[in-house]
Amino acid sequence: MTRRAAFLDLNGTLVMPIKVESLSELTLIAGADEAIARLSRAGFVCPVVTIQSRIAKGIFSDKDFRAWFRVFTAQMGSRGAHIVGPYVCPHRFNEWCGCKKPATYLYELAAREYEIDLHRSFVIGDSASDVGAAYGFKGRGCLVRTGWSLDEREVTRAQHYGPFIANSLSDAVDWVLSQPDPTG
Ligand SMILES: [Mg+2]
Ligand SMILES: [Zn+2]
Repeated sequence: MTRRAAFLDLNGTLVMPIKVESLSELTLIAGADEAIARLSRAGFVCPVVTIQSRIAKGIFSDKDFRAWFRVFTAQMGSRGAHIVGPYVCPHRFNEWCGCKKPATYLYELAAREYEIDLHRSFVIGDSASDVGAAYGFKGRGCLVRTGWSLDEREVTRAQHYGPFIANSLSDAVDWVLSQPDPTG
């Protein structure tokens, strides 16, 4: 396991809005592509780990979501922002499953597929469950004050996991890139 990852949340972190009725509503948060391109240039693998409970609700299908993600990945890639995945929990928030953040299952799956060293890796996201996953796999979490974390109560919930708190995705990437690699 040799590579470092910056795991990325999707809704509220890379795209808005956080609750969509149609995939066509999803739009890139300004500057997200440039920020992720900096992670790519620094050699980070950037798996996208996302909860899409609208799949369980039948608002869109897993197939439709993956088709949307392929287009999104290509658009990001054309700007030097190389994301991989998606690693998807399709279940409802109140439905028990083994894959919903802060469970580490999807992160471990990505780690096996991309030879990622989780202890030297990061999670960037807008909710307590994102940074909770980083805490769970003994990586480091960065909460971004976008999406859910525009609400101070979400920031308070996240603080239990001791994340770095960034005002924007660009600030989150600045922080990740400033952290020494424990074995590097
Ligand atoms: Mg989110
Ligand atoms: Zn799930």
